[in-house]
Amino acid sequence: MPELPEVETIRRQLAPRVAGRTIARARVFDPLWSAPVAPREVERKLRGRRIEALRRRGKYLIADLDEDRHLVMHLRMTGNLLWVAPEDDRPERPHLRVRLTLDDGHRLLFTDQRRFGTGVVIDGTHLLETYLSERVGPEPLDPAFTPDVLARAARGRRAPVKAFLLDQRRVAGVGNIYADEALFRAGIHPLRPAGRLRRAEIERLHRGIVEALERGIERQGASIDDYRDSNGDRGSMQDEFLIHLRAGEPCIRCGRPVRKTLAAGRGTYVCSRCQPAPRPRRRATPA
Ligand SMILES: [Zn+2]
Repeated sequence: MPELPEVETIRRQLAPRVAGRTIARARVFDPLWSAPVAPREVERKLRGRRIEALRRRGKYLIADLDEDRHLVMHLRMTGNLLWVAPEDDRPERPHLRVRLTLDDGHRLLFTDQRRFGTGVVIDGTHLLETYLSERVGPEPLDPAFTPDVLARAARGRRAPVKAFLLDQRRVAGVGNIYADEALFRAGIHPLRPAGRLRRAEIERLHRGIVEALERGIERQGASIDDYRDSNGDRGSMQDEFLIHLRAGEPCIRCGRPVRKTLAAGRGTYVCSRCQPAPRPRRRATPA
C-alpha cells in the first residue's frame, strides 16, 4: 500500500511534467472512483482545466487546477498513477480506472486492481482545507513537525503507539511499513501506549519517523506488492528495510531473531531486545 514516500516519489516525478498543461480529455471508467459523484460530472469538471501544481498532503495527491478547482486523489491499496507518452501505443494498462489526456498528448492513467482508490473534485481553497484537515494530521516532513508537535498528538492516547502512528489524523502519511521502521529506529515496542512514552522516547520516535520516511523517498519507495512509480518502475526501499518483513532474520543491531507479531491488526516486525515490550505480563500465581 503506498505510503508517504511512495506518493511523494510519484508527485516529484509528475509535478514538473504536468504543471502548466491543460487536461484535454478526462475519462472516468469506474464509477466507484468518483462515487457518489457521477463519472460524467467529474469528467466535465476536469475537461479544459489547466494544472497549476501537483502537491501532496499525507497520502493524498492534489492537482491544483485553475479557477481554484482541485482534484484530490488517493491511491489506497493498489492504486498507481502512470505517465504515458503520446507515442506509446501499447494497449491500455490492466485495471485502468481513469484516463486524463493532456494537451501535449501525454496520458495520466489511474490503474487500480482492488478499486479502493478515489478521486474527488473540490472547488475553493477553503473547502479543500476543510476536507484535508478532517482527514490528515501534521505533515511529518514539514519543518513545523517537531518533537513537541508529536508529544502533543500523543498526549493522553492509550492506543498502542503503532496504532497511533497508523492513524492519519495523528501523523499524516505513515503506514504499516514506515511505522515498523520508525519504531525500530527509535527502539520502541509497537504495543507501548502512545501517551506513556517518555520525552526522550518521543524525541527518538520523531527522529525515527523523519529518517525512515526520508530514506523511503531516497529509494523511490518500496515495491513489495503492487506499488510502481509513475514510470511503472519499482522502488528499492524493500531492499533496505531495517526490520519490516525480516521475521526470523538476525536483528541488524543485536543479532536476535526478528519476530513477527500483530499490532493494530497489522503484521508487525519487532526485535524483543532492541524494542522492550510494555511491562512484562506476570501470571497470577496461587497463594
Ligand atoms: Zn535487536
